[in-house]
Amino acid sequence: MSNVKVCVRFRPLSSRERRICGDDICFDRLDEESFVFKDEKGEDTTFCFDRVFYQDAKQRDLYEFLAMSIVQDTVNGINGTIITYGQTGAGKTYSLEGPGILEFDECRKGLLPRVIDGLFECLKSSTDMSAHTIKISMVEIYMERVRDLLDVSKDNLQIREGKGQGIYLSGATEVSISDLTEAIALINRGIANKAVGSTQMNVTSSRSHCLYTLSVQYESAVDGKVKSGKLMLVDLAGSEKVEKTGAEGKVLEEAKTINKSLSALGNVINALTTGKRSHIPYRSSKLTRILEDSLGGNSRTALLCCCSPSSSNTLESMSTLRFGTRAKLI
Ligand code: ADP
Ligand code: MG
Repeated sequence: MSNVKVCVRFRPLSSRERRICGDDICFDRLDEESFVFKDEKGEDTTFCFDRVFYQDAKQRDLYEFLAMSIVQDTVNGINGTIITYGQTGAGKTYSLEGPGILEFDECRKGLLPRVIDGLFECLKSSTDMSAHTIKISMVEIYMERVRDLLDVSKDNLQIREGKGQGIYLSGATEVSISDLTEAIALINRGIANKAVGSTQMNVTSSRSHCLYTLSVQYESAVDGKVKSGKLMLVDLAGSEKVEKTGAEGKVLEEAKTINKSLSALGNVINALTTGKRSHIPYRSSKLTRILEDSLGGNSRTALLCCCSPSSSNTLESMSTLRFGTRAKLI
């Protein structure tokens, strides 16, 4: 089985979309893995993915299909990455964090709290681990600069590679957590910093990539060796094209930078799925460089392509589906 899973999620229609386009949906559901997409010219394309989550999918379904096995592997020392891709408003943050990180509603909470819970569960139920720690760090990549969301004074973190340590962000704040409640409080602090940063720099968070790193370390009770695994969750910047006319200066620069890193990511995932492992272009962006040891080699990757179901967003949804298809094209 491939180490890369590519899934699609169509969120429910928003009230704004209902006003614009009524209940017009841009696809016909075939089964759990495929649907027929109607483009803006009315032409049909059939798409197949590892799994399609339709409007009625539960947050739990998402976790069980695309994250649970990655969580188990992380505890066994295999790195993993879970990425949400799509235009702004498509449901990336909802899928990854939930509707509001503060409440962590049992039914609506996103992948991140479920993953943290899952890691604690796996560590608790394993008989092989005497002592363990889970550490969280949280950064944002904006205009190819890496900012620490747990300490905003660190706004230009450098990427390093250490022997036996893999890729890491030099000086990034890492906080050890002992349960989900502690993790939530910490993550909320980071999310608040995202908001602070965006008003200061006049950026909305949809223009930056947000990366959560969960590092697990434990001592094996069997041989006393220290083992570790790293799971990264990535909420990507919005993939929408900016209007060519009118976009200038900073907006255009932002768009170009985002576009460049998203294509770099697409190229890397494509190289991994096609098995062309000799030349994988990790160094073409900060994003792919940071993800290098969580995407390549022996690690597990899940890409969730988030789409609006509305006919009013056909162009952007098509572009998202193409990204997902290309990422997996053999
Ligand atoms: P993005 O992060 O891609 O910009 P969001 O996750 O913020 O998009 O989602 C946009 C809006 O749609 C939010 O108000 C969010 O609560 C809502 N939404 C997204 N996905 C779902 C879903 N599966 N079920 C219900 N509401 C959703
Ligand atoms: Mg978002």
